[in-house]
Amino acid sequence: MSMTSPLPKPNCTLCPRLAMHRENHRIIYPDYFNAPVPCFGDPNAKLLIVGQAPGWNGANRTGRPFTGDKSGELLYGALREAGFATGNYGGHKDDGVELKDCMVTNAVRCAPNKDEKHTDAHELESSEIIQCRQFLKARIEEQKNNGLKAIIALGLSAYSSVLMAQGLPENNESMKKLSNTKKEFGGIVLYASYHPSPRTRQWMSQKQFIDQFATIKKDLLIAE
Ligand code: SF4
Repeated sequence: MSMTSPLPKPNCTLCPRLAMHRENHRIIYPDYFNAPVPCFGDPNAKLLIVGQAPGWNGANRTGRPFTGDKSGELLYGALREAGFATGNYGGHKDDGVELKDCMVTNAVRCAPNKDEKHTDAHELESSEIIQCRQFLKARIEEQKNNGLKAIIALGLSAYSSVLMAQGLPENNESMKKLSNTKKEFGGIVLYASYHPSPRTRQWMSQKQFIDQFATIKKDLLIAE
């Protein structure tokens, strides 16, 4: 039986609405990446970080997950503090950041349409989340073969997508209840976190965000 590749084609059309936006944006914003955003990091990582979707003005512009907007400052800063990254985040994919023992991806690889009010908004249709789940599932399976031990989902939609990619029921809990919790399935520990966007800072401080990665680092060392 053939397996789905964890890399969608650059012109993937499985989500017609997102593909149409992408084609339009390639004309209007030719300097933007405007394609399914690839994963970034260590192919033999023990930790997989799963976000929701590329920010229209962030990863969709730069071509690297969580890069080019405020979310990346917090995420890559926290990863460096916790020992999962080296280099200074500079908001572009050639800033020299290197990930150590972790990989970053998104549950949905293409950006939703540009939204004038919320340029990093993730307004996706459920059919798009379902379509792209095959690539998340393939990524998780490939990482499992390479020593994956933990996943952290950033945001509710990412959390549900990880569960469903593993054949588990959709999550019904709020992030308020889930944040800072972990659950285990098939030898993998799944951590839940708020998304690192500025809009969620009222529920999770920068220090709490950094601390959760330090905790994961410790858990992984204990499990070795
Ligand atoms: S979101 Fe995923 S499935 Fe949909 S078009 Fe993009 S790469 Fe393909």
